Amino acid sequence: MIREIGASPDFIIEFGKKCVRCGQCRSVCPVFTEFKTEGFSPRARVFLADMIHRSCKGSTVALNSRGPAHIDYADSSPDARTFTDNAPTDILKKAWDRNLICLLCGACATDCPSGVPVCDIILSMRKEYVAHGGRPKLVAELSQRIRETHNVVGEDNENRWLWMEEHTPISVHSECQVTPLRRPQGLVYFTGCVASLYPGAYKIPRSMIQIMNRTGIGFALLGGEEWCCGYPLSLLGLDSEADEIAGHNLEKVVGLGADTVMTSCPSCYYTWRHLIEKTGAHITVIHYTQLLNGIVADQAVKLSPMEVVATYHDPCDLGRKSGIYDPPREVLRSIPGLTFNEITPSRKDARCCGGGGNLETIDPELSRKLAEARLSQASDTGAELIVTACQQCARTLSNAARKLPRTRNMPYGDSEPPRPDMEITVPRKMKVRDIADIVLSCLQSP
Ligand code: SF4
Ligand code: SF4
Repeated sequence: MIREIGASPDFIIEFGKKCVRCGQCRSVCPVFTEFKTEGFSPRARVFLADMIHRSCKGSTVALNSRGPAHIDYADSSPDARTFTDNAPTDILKKAWDRNLICLLCGACATDCPSGVPVCDIILSMRKEYVAHGGRPKLVAELSQRIRETHNVVGEDNENRWLWMEEHTPISVHSECQVTPLRRPQGLVYFTGCVASLYPGAYKIPRSMIQIMNRTGIGFALLGGEEWCCGYPLSLLGLDSEADEIAGHNLEKVVGLGADTVMTSCPSCYYTWRHLIEKTGAHITVIHYTQLLNGIVADQAVKLSPMEVVATYHDPCDLGRKSGIYDPPREVLRSIPGLTFNEITPSRKDARCCGGGGNLETIDPELSRKLAEARLSQASDTGAELIVTACQQCARTLSNAARKLPRTRNMPYGDSEPPRPDMEITVPRKMKVRDIADIVLSCLQSP
């Protein structure tokens, strides 16, 4: 489990000492696996952070004194050795640039035998750069967008209702209408920016509200009063801005008299969990896979058969970072006719889909390659369907599946010559679907 977003310099030095440079983290890092360059390995990121903070503390660090001689620290060591408190931004900028090429998937930290929380160190380095006045375009634009519109897209926040308005009329249970803000209900469905504002992800909340209506579960939506959860800001080092908007959401939920917040986005779930831990508010946070599992386990609905071989992709923020592995698997196993084949690696060892850490925006080509690698692992299970429980994973994997080459060794299109070094197993026709969409399509009429 990841400790918390952001950390202090002392924390970095403490864990810098614990890193024994064994390289175990390299074997599970998707970015290192792709680049095969030490500078992109998790241990090099830890080493760089440690060097910077030791320099900040005024201690002398000899080049490569604590790491294997073969490691190429060329882009970090010289600056780190001459680093002073008066000119921190150059080296912090270098660390920033390097650490942006990271999925923040947490695989490195999970596999580290010394318990080094690499992800927290990377986030801390981002935070420090921003705290030292670094304002890369990416940060400035996102910050402005969320400040002005309260969502990551930059749209009028009232557009969060559109996914409902454009929907063909849903069957609404007589006792549980979808409620507007200010009508108290126990459960608030926090739909999240992407599912509310990207039409490609509308299917998730649309499926969920139909399932809840069919099973008599009342809920409220915040609509235009739902603001970004703050996670994207935290990832870019803007913790105080993230806390501010998260505080708004909490105030609205508490104001409704709700006792439970349900999210479908794993990152929203992760953020809400931390918010509740930090504030001590009496709110239970659940992920929609938990509600779906409860519905299925209670036999509140009958599921019709679905003859398909399926596998499940663990979203990093839901699995490795939040420990939710079983509910989605139990839901899938309860569908008659569905053959569930586990993917390798899975659960805490699952590989990121390639869309974590906003990598899709920062380096779309790398993101696509990592998604292809995950598709290939899914294909090895014999599954024709990949089910996931995250709008970002669904989007990243679907986009990659859509563009997959038809021929082996031609990953970038038929016009290019074969590239044996880039050989991937071409997955059979794979579909990527959200778990709520699957459950809805199996719901039998009451
Ligand atoms: S696995 Fe842990 S101890 Fe080993 S190199 Fe990576 S961060 Fe350091
Ligand atoms: S968080 Fe993921 S991508 Fe980033 S260094 Fe660790 S394993 Fe690599």
